[in-house]
Amino acid sequence: MRNFSGIAASPGIAMGRLRIVDRRKTAVSEYPIPFESVCHETSRLVQAIEDTRVELELLKSRLAETSGEDHIFFIETHLMILVDERLVTETSEIIKTGMINAEGALRRTLQRYRDTFARIDDPYLRERISDVETVIERVLRSMSGEAVEPFPQHEGQTIIAAHDFSPADMLQIDRNNVLAIITEIGGRTSHTAILARALDLPAVMGIEGIADPLFDGVSVIVDGVAGTVTVDPDQDTFQTSLRRKQHYEYVEHELLKTVSLPTVTLDGHSMHLRGNVEIPEEGASVLGHGGSGVGLYRTEMLFMNREAMPDEEEQLEIYRAMQQAIAPHPLTIRTLDAGGDKLLEGMDQTAELNPALGVRAIRLSLSMPYEFKKQLRAILRVSADGPVRIMFPMISGMEEVYRAKQLLNEAKRELTDSGIAFDSTVQVGVMIEIPAAVILADLLAREVDFFSVGTNDLIQYTLAIDRSNEQLSHMYQPLHPAVLRSLRRIVQAAHGAGITACLCGEMAGEPLYLPVLLGLGFDELSMGAGSILRVKQILRRCTLERAARIAEGCFSFSTAAEVELYLKTQITMDVAESID
Ligand code: PEP
Ligand code: MG
Repeated sequence: MRNFSGIAASPGIAMGRLRIVDRRKTAVSEYPIPFESVCHETSRLVQAIEDTRVELELLKSRLAETSGEDHIFFIETHLMILVDERLVTETSEIIKTGMINAEGALRRTLQRYRDTFARIDDPYLRERISDVETVIERVLRSMSGEAVEPFPQHEGQTIIAAHDFSPADMLQIDRNNVLAIITEIGGRTSHTAILARALDLPAVMGIEGIADPLFDGVSVIVDGVAGTVTVDPDQDTFQTSLRRKQHYEYVEHELLKTVSLPTVTLDGHSMHLRGNVEIPEEGASVLGHGGSGVGLYRTEMLFMNREAMPDEEEQLEIYRAMQQAIAPHPLTIRTLDAGGDKLLEGMDQTAELNPALGVRAIRLSLSMPYEFKKQLRAILRVSADGPVRIMFPMISGMEEVYRAKQLLNEAKRELTDSGIAFDSTVQVGVMIEIPAAVILADLLAREVDFFSVGTNDLIQYTLAIDRSNEQLSHMYQPLHPAVLRSLRRIVQAAHGAGITACLCGEMAGEPLYLPVLLGLGFDELSMGAGSILRVKQILRRCTLERAARIAEGCFSFSTAAEVELYLKTQITMDVAESID
C-alpha cells in the first residue's frame, strides 16, 4: 500500500482500478538545418498548425454532438491559441535565426511561454500554460506524423491517472466507467479542475509519479475531499475509505434533497445564495446545487493569453452562453478585473513596483475607455435576454463611480443610436474591496443599486496581508474584528440607502460564517457552486433573530481566534463538518 498526498481539485471519493493514460510529450529532437531548408521548415510548421486546426474543428463538432454546445469552450480556447499569429511568427523567427528544425523551434517557443507564465503570481493565470502546452503538443504530434490518440475507452470501475490531462481529454472520457481522475501536474484553478468540478468528477492533482506504467491495473482509492490517493490499499484502509465514501455520498445525497427547498431561515427570512463562475460550463453546476443565479462572473478569462482584447461580438457570445446557462436567474457580470497579479498580454509586470496597489481593475478599465465601453456594450446587449447586473471591481472613491457610470451611459446611448436592444434599467453595483470604499460606503450607496463585498481583497487590504503569501496565511483572518466591523458598516450603509448588500468573497462559502453574515443583514451571498448546499443547510436551521444575536456577540471579542471559538460553540455544525 502507498499513500500520496496532493491537491483536492474536485470533491468526491472513488475506488477502482488505475488506468494510466499516456498523454505525454511527443519525442522531439532539435537539429541544425542548412540555410536553404529554412523555407521548407517554416512551411512544415504552417502546415502542421493548419492540420491541427482542422483536427480541433472536427473534435469540436464531434463534442458539440455528444456533450452539447456548453462544453466546447475549451476547444475554442485551444483554437484561439493555435491561430494566434505569434505562434507562427515567433517560431519562424527561431527557425531562421537559430537555423534549426521546426520541431526544435516550436519546443523553444513553448519554453519561452513557460518562462513568461512562470513569472505570473496569480495561480489561475499561471496554470493557463497548460492550454498552450496542450496545443503545441498537438502541433508537434502532427509534425511527427503521430496521430493524436483518440481517447481510450474504459470498461469497469476505472480511475484514470495521467501526467497531464487536458480539458479536451476530460470531455471525451466515458462517464459511465470513469469514476475519478488523478494527474501529476495541475492545480485547483486549472481548466481541467474547473471542468472536473462542473462535471462532478472527483479529482486529485499534483501527485508526482502516479502515471508510472507500473501502477497500471492496481486498485486505488481517490479522495478528492482530502486530496489523497492510496495505491493498492490494504483491507482496513479500503473498509475505512468505503465508510467515508458512503458517509460523503449520504451527506451529498441529503444535501441534494434540499436543492429545491426554499433558501429561508426557520423564521421565514429568505436570502439569495448564488454561484461564482469564470466560464459558462460552471452555470449548470450552480443551478444543480440550487444556486439562484450568479453573484460573480469573473470575466478576466476571456481577456487572457491573447494579443488583442476580445471584440464586442466575441464578448457578447460568451456572456450570452453564460446567461443562457443560468436563465432565468440573474447574472452578475463583473467588468474586467485585470492588473495586479492578473496580467494581460502586453502588460509589463516589472513596470509596477507594487502591482497589488497598481493599475488594476476599474483603474485599468478607466484608462482605456474605448475597450471598457466595448465590454459595457456587450454586457448591456446580453441584458436584453434576461436579468443581468453590472459590477465594477476595486472601487476606491466616488470619481471612479462617476466616470464608470458616465461611460456606461455613453455605451447605452451608442446602442440606442444603433437601434440595439438592452435593458435600460440594468442594475449597477460596486465591489467593496478597499478600506476607502468601506469608509465612503454611505456616499457610494447613493450612486449604485447594490454593493458586493469582495472579502478576498478587503481582508488583504484591511489587514495588509498579501492574500497569496502562504507564509502569512495564518494572519489572513476573515473573523478579524476590523473585518467584521467593516462588514457591519457596509451593510448599514447599503440598507440605509435602500440598496442590496451582497458578499462574493470566499468567506461566503464557509458554513461557519453564515450566521454572522446573515445576522449582519447581508441579502445575498455568492460562492463556489460546491458550497451552496452546505451554506443553505445552516441557513435553514437558523432563525434570523438568533443569527443577529450571534453576529452581535462577535463584537464583544477582540481577536479573530476568540470570535472563531465563540462561533463554534454557538453553532452545531453537524452536516457542514461531517465530511472534513
Ligand atoms: C474578492 O476580492 O473577494 C473577489 C471576489 O474578487 P477576486 O477574488 O476575483 O479578486
Ligand atoms: Mg477582488
